[in-house]
Amino acid sequence: MSREPSLQTRYRNLRKSALESCRWRGHRMKLVHTLYGYTSHLGDPHYLYCITGHWECKDCSRTVTVQTTPPPNGIDIGGGAVVVYCFKQP
Ligand SMILES: [Zn+2]
Repeated sequence: MSREPSLQTRYRNLRKSALESCRWRGHRMKLVHTLYGYTSHLGDPHYLYCITGHWECKDCSRTVTVQTTPPPNGIDIGGGAVVVYCFKQP
């Protein structure tokens, strides 16, 4: 039993909408890192339960973070780049 395919799909969908929001705000996002969170689950010692992606704008350094499995009361897409417009340096 594995959640990996659906988790990957969820991650791709979240990433797409997060980066579209950033682009709409004028940011040019570059990937900083992708983190894979593993835990022990149902006898599988390397059960993938969370994929986190982190991007930063090349122009203003604002960030966006995508998490497939946010903590309670957490959010799956967050960061300054989705709520604030980019300021481009001339
Ligand atoms: Zn920006």
